[in-house]
Amino acid sequence: MDFDPAAIESLNWLDDKQDSMLSLIVELCDINSGTYNLPGIEKVRDRLIEEFSTLGGELKVVDSQPWMTVDDQGHSEEGKSGPILHVTKWPDAETKVMLCIHMDTVYGADHHFQKCVTKDDGTVNGPGVIDAKGGVVVMLNAIRTLEASPLAGKVGWEVILNADEEIGSRGSDQFIRSRAPYCDAGLLFEPSLPDGTLVSWRKGSGNFAFIVRGKSAHTGRDFAKGRNALAALSRLCVEIDELNTDPDITFNVGRINGGGALNAVPDLAVGRVNVRVVDTDQQKMVQEKFAGLVEKYNELDGISVEMNGEFSSPPKPIDDGVRQMQSRIESCGQQLGMEIKWRGTGGASDGNRFAAAGLPNIDTLGPRGDHIHSDQEFLIPESLVPRAKLAALVLMSFGS
Ligand SMILES: [Zn+2]
Repeated sequence: MDFDPAAIESLNWLDDKQDSMLSLIVELCDINSGTYNLPGIEKVRDRLIEEFSTLGGELKVVDSQPWMTVDDQGHSEEGKSGPILHVTKWPDAETKVMLCIHMDTVYGADHHFQKCVTKDDGTVNGPGVIDAKGGVVVMLNAIRTLEASPLAGKVGWEVILNADEEIGSRGSDQFIRSRAPYCDAGLLFEPSLPDGTLVSWRKGSGNFAFIVRGKSAHTGRDFAKGRNALAALSRLCVEIDELNTDPDITFNVGRINGGGALNAVPDLAVGRVNVRVVDTDQQKMVQEKFAGLVEKYNELDGISVEMNGEFSSPPKPIDDGVRQMQSRIESCGQQLGMEIKWRGTGGASDGNRFAAAGLPNIDTLGPRGDHIHSDQEFLIPESLVPRAKLAALVLMSFGS
């Protein structure tokens, strides 16, 4: 791959930006934006509108779709995610790149982890510093670099900042899938692995709820008339756990709710399971197994079973499109003196969703750090400028 020397030159704009990038990350992380903290999400979004509106694209706030969930009493309830920030520029360019990352974090408003602290070793510990507010800022600066370069206008781009990735993008999934066909490639800014390794393939992930209903009865007077939903669910969960025979496919019975007074036969129990698969054949196999189990348990006298859920993140395999993206990123890395390494992971991201919608993407272009989803989450500030340069060069490579 040949790079325009003027494009390479324009990357120097980033050389002294580490401090300003870091201070914006700290400012964003000090505002709580746990997925369910909608006022906090709005504050972060408003701050990001200020930043992204300087890029000169068309900026819109798009409502998330309401989504359904099952509560511990087996009732369906509607869930709501914060709105999506959507920016587009140069829609008539020959090549268009999707840039996406999330504004929400796993830390709710009542979590004890709320503020950033700089550690003695220079790393910054804070909620969302790499997952994914660091990624937001890397993305922003990569686009700024592109727009200040001679390739501005030659690459069309689209930004999606969603507010519910940490709960499986329940409310933004539809919008993500609807925008995928408008782009040729996707760059997502989840954190890279601590040593800078990028993620190649990802497992698919699905959450399922099994709602089991039986018949309540007094254990002393009428025990024989009762039908124990909790006992039936327990047997069902053991059968699901016993499906763990192949390390590629994992079934985690994560939660069971049910029962109450010990002198009453429980008439309701809800079990929740997370499943991870490597490919769509496995996904189909799991769906068939679950359908079979539901049928089997529905045949029990006085017991009814209902299953709710799906693979909200389909598997993201390495296909030709991903391979092309990998070699593009390796060439850009080489130009910058970075060796790019790859690894697969069991964790899912919005990259899975774009892949399922046919958009090849690489989803770990964010900064380096570690311990996401814990109060030990930290960012390595020295990774900010190199990551922004890499993303900017990848963007430019689509215009030359
Ligand atoms: Zn996360």
